[in-house]
Amino acid sequence: MSDKNRYERQVILPEIGESGQEKLSNASVLCIGAGGLGCPALLYLAAAGVGHLGIVDFDVVEETNLQRQVLFTTDQIGVNKAKAAKTRLTALNPEIEIDVCPEELTDKNAQALFEKYDVIIDGTDNFSTKFLINDVAVKANKPFVYGSILGFDGQVSVFNNQDGPCYRCLFPEAPKGHVPNCAQAGVIGAVAGIVGTTQAMEAIKVILENKDLPPLSGCLWTIDMHTMESKRLRISKNENCTVCSKAQKEIVPQYSSPVCGFVQEVTPEQARLNSSAILIDVREIEEWNEGYIENARHAPLSDLMQGTIPDLPTDCEIILYCQKGIRGEKAAQIFKAKGYLNINNMSGGYAAWVKCS
Ligand SMILES: [Zn+2]
Repeated sequence: MSDKNRYERQVILPEIGESGQEKLSNASVLCIGAGGLGCPALLYLAAAGVGHLGIVDFDVVEETNLQRQVLFTTDQIGVNKAKAAKTRLTALNPEIEIDVCPEELTDKNAQALFEKYDVIIDGTDNFSTKFLINDVAVKANKPFVYGSILGFDGQVSVFNNQDGPCYRCLFPEAPKGHVPNCAQAGVIGAVAGIVGTTQAMEAIKVILENKDLPPLSGCLWTIDMHTMESKRLRISKNENCTVCSKAQKEIVPQYSSPVCGFVQEVTPEQARLNSSAILIDVREIEEWNEGYIENARHAPLSDLMQGTIPDLPTDCEIILYCQKGIRGEKAAQIFKAKGYLNINNMSGGYAAWVKCS
């Protein structure tokens, strides 16, 4: 080990020792989402010397993230989260290897990504991605450390570990109706910190494979931070589970992106005929000054990326447009991440609108 002092305090633990440290340094962990859960999880995994970390996040750092996403600093607002996280983690531990994937996790890229890592950490806040992570983790035979928070409640479990139950054994289908995420329900940073840190601990246990440190496999740990009451609920493997009871090659990961809300493409003609939707121009001020669609609101992408979002009800229908349609897609992802449910992007943007008017 090149940097003996760094890990001295954990190597003296009999449960870790030199051999456990060697396992950590040879291990790889992929964290999906560098948000409220991913930040503390990554921080402790990097500090503990997990040799190879992967970070998947398409989103950018916003001011409203800083209250809980402890890897980021004020001057990183607007920077992609996976990249910003790497900067911080490399400063903490330059010995480890960190790969960034500044993309959305989908059923297209998940399988190839998961295959490169030993353990997957779920740092997401929506059911659709959690189900995708589960299905791909089972298909690729990787354990995944689940975490979830809502208000003052937290949950952690380790799924698909050594033939243990999977997430769908517990929750066969996504709940019907709209479930709020942190943007809508509110969260205090310390709650995310406790759950994310617990996920790091569980990933370390999975890596160490020490019988004195059994991971939360077959067990859902819950904590209510109003009362600090915590419970361990047993979870059994469901013989008829739609995912883990199947042969790996027969598993087809189910994914319906987008999760909380959806983004649809509309043509300029459709936009013109839709009088109830709110039109939002996401171009910059110079472009807006040269002409815009009547009744449109102005919310430049540069402001959206800094976290300045127009104050509108999350269930209203919104049509976004930019000059040619590309920035509108990016803006749509930002609205979607904020919990807006009905987001449309006008294909071809303002240029197409002008052409057909
Ligand atoms: Zn299952």
